[in-house]
Parts: sequence; C-alpha cells; structure tokens
Amino acid sequence: MQGSFAKHAYSMGNLGIKSRAVRTAEDLKLIDALILPGGESTTMTLLLENEGLWDPLNEALKTLPVFGTCAGAILLGQQIDDERVRCFNRINYKAERNAYGRQIESFSTTLVIPSILDHDFHAVFIRAPKFREIGPEVVPLAVFGSDPVLLKQGKVLVASFHPELTDDPSIHKYFMDEIVLKSR
Ligand code: GLN
Repeated sequence: MQGSFAKHAYSMGNLGIKSRAVRTAEDLKLIDALILPGGESTTMTLLLENEGLWDPLNEALKTLPVFGTCAGAILLGQQIDDERVRCFNRINYKAERNAYGRQIESFSTTLVIPSILDHDFHAVFIRAPKFREIGPEVVPLAVFGSDPVLLKQGKVLVASFHPELTDDPSIHKYFMDEIVLKSR
C-alpha cells in the first residue's frame, strides 16, 4: 500500500523469485510469503484499515512466513504506545519508533552477520526503530552497537534497516532459504 515495496520486488527478482504487490484480500490468497516494507507505520495502519485489509492480513499472518523491514518490523511487533499504529503481534518485542533520533534521520553502516552471511552487509537505516522488551523466543541475528537490528522468531524475520536499498540480496536469500522454504 505504501513504502519501499518496489525495491523489495527488485531484490527478489535478482534471486529469480517472482513477487506481486498485495493490495486486496484476494491478493493474499495468491502468495506463499510476504514482505512488509519500510515506509511510515502510521500511514500504513490508516491505509490497511481504510482499504479493509488489516483483518485479512492479520489472518494471513497467522500462517504466512513474513519479512518486515523498518515500518514493517514495527507493525509485526507487540502493540506500541501509539494508537495511530496498530500492530500484528507476530514477534515478541515492542518497537520504539524513530529511536535513533529525528535529527540524524538516516545513516548507513557495515554489519557483520557471521551467523548467516559470509560477507559484511551494508545496512541503510532511515528513521529506524529500536526493539525493546525483546522476548526470549526472539533470536537476534545481527546487532549494531548494543541494539539487535535483524531478528527472527519462527516464520517471522525483521530488520530495522533497509536490505532492499542495497544491491546485495543476501538477506532476502536468507529469508527465502531458511524461513520460507524450511517452513513448507
Ligand atoms: N519511522 C518510520 C515509522 O515509524 C519507519 C521508517 C522506515 O520504515 N524507514 O513508521
């Protein structure tokens, strides 16, 4: 509905994987896995509710593997203290929106993620959230400083950064190989 979905489609295309935009409840029946892109979680909530997609998406998320980036990661967490954002409670943390400060807004850094990648990953953070009150069932895969920035719980993968904004599709590949294909 909103945000950087086209770039995710491009990353998936680089892996030879077909993707489609989900705009209606019918579209949800045609997919095996879902990416909730970055964007603006308040606007996404509004659009999902106004288009009647929040409830069907909530239902689909009970079974679909999902990868949430930035605003998508905020929506997949536990309900936060902001009534403009309605969360799907699919992964056990509370996101703190814009947690790196509005004045910084965006930055990029190199992440070392030896548990899943054999090379460094260039990560772009744009008004990124931090994850608080992280439950024991959540596996942190990458940290920036002391903050987990790539996490997994069951069929849910989230990043506070934007892996779709670099030319390296290896985190998308990890999602496909280790979460989507293994949950079949
Ligand atoms: N700050 C945005 C929000 O709260 C997320 C930013 C992003 O997705 N790049 O929804």
